[in-house]
Amino acid sequence: MRVAVVGAGAVGLTAARTLADRGTDVVLYDRGEIASGATGRAAGLCYDAFAEDRDAAVAADSLRRFRELGVLTECPYVWYARDGDEANADAIAQQVPRMQAHGRDVALVEPERLGERYPQLRTDEIAVAAIAHRAGFVDPTEYASALTETVLERGVGVRTETPVSLAGPTTVAEPDGTVGFDAVLVAAGPATKPIVADAGVALPLQAYRAQALVTEPLRATLPMAYDATQQCYWRPCEGGLLVGDGAHEVDPDDWDPDADASFERSALDRLAAATTVDATRAQSWAGLCTATPDREPLLGGVGDGLYVATGWHGHGLMRSPALGERIGEQILGGPGVDAYDPDRFTGDETIDVVDGMTIDEDEETPS
Ligand SMILES: Cc1cc2nc3c(=O)[nH]c(=O)nc-3n(C[C@H](O)[C@H](O)[C@H](O)COP(=O)(O)OP(=O)(O)OC[C@H]3O[C@@H](n4cnc5c(N)ncnc54)[C@H](O)[C@@H]3O)c2cc1C
Repeated sequence: MRVAVVGAGAVGLTAARTLADRGTDVVLYDRGEIASGATGRAAGLCYDAFAEDRDAAVAADSLRRFRELGVLTECPYVWYARDGDEANADAIAQQVPRMQAHGRDVALVEPERLGERYPQLRTDEIAVAAIAHRAGFVDPTEYASALTETVLERGVGVRTETPVSLAGPTTVAEPDGTVGFDAVLVAAGPATKPIVADAGVALPLQAYRAQALVTEPLRATLPMAYDATQQCYWRPCEGGLLVGDGAHEVDPDDWDPDADASFERSALDRLAAATTVDATRAQSWAGLCTATPDREPLLGGVGDGLYVATGWHGHGLMRSPALGERIGEQILGGPGVDAYDPDRFTGDETIDVVDGMTIDEDEETPS
């Protein structure tokens, strides 16, 4: 069997590795360098604090694989709502027992206890907080390099700087001509939508822009955290902190990869409100994420040997080890995941562009 994978991000690399492991002849295309899309711009937070059992299992499986590869830096993940933010406070209080019921190592934690453990965290105005002990972060570039090594070892044909389109469901149009395959997986982030549109497939997918910055090194001992009230997150990074937020709908063909000055100011202001650290910016950037109508990915077949993997709502890196493998196996005849089936929509749905960490107050899940 010969399979083309379009997109050498975390998902495409993982799927290519799985396919090659099972004896498939794989060509992996990217229009730029490896990990030149969202993967190389990700913050790298990884946790299994999901209230939905399927999502929790996927995340836990992915964490295990990151650990096996030796790329995960263990670090607890804390998320909380501030006084007056009753909707998020209620949602967090209701999520945690559901996560515990799925075997997640998470707990509600008294703000005072949190303050004792992390004195630089301002806990006086925290109403409800939770902590996930099975969490950590990966350096996305290091992770992509490790994956690239494994796909090359397995004989995958890697074609970087090669933008492709579809001349048919399983026919890839390269710059120099067309090539036929038995199956094609498009894992090209927001570009997945226009690429499969060439084969007559309409995907309910919207691009949005997320931003992040890294501070100069600090004397800080802080967990990874998501401040649900201020809608920003951070994690330790190179002696400082990586701070991020974001969900601004954009045209994926016309967007600014540099962070806005207003984001930098507000991210540092929010960090100052949440902690006692005095941070300054060292570097910043923006990247594109993808949203779907129900905040779950589009993962599976869209007809005639054509498959997609996109729509990660800012959680693609942390789920890529499990779901990149899953889509690779599905291409070889394995079962799909019904809840992620790209055909599950009627076409009438709207897409609510929100950052993946935003707590869904109706569903009572964190993403
Ligand atoms: C600022 C920021 C912070 C984030 N933080 C986190 C986080 O903490 N944890 C987490 O889990 N996720 C995070 N994410 C989300 C995560 O980065 C993505 O969900 C994940 O990287 C998606 O991987 P992917 O392989 O699907 O897509 P991508 O990495 O976007 O890869 C798609 C590839 O397709 C290529 N491509 C596009 N069009 C074509 C074409 N025509 N021909 C050939 N190749 C093409 C692109 O060049 C690109 O390399 C963050 C994202 C951003 C922007």
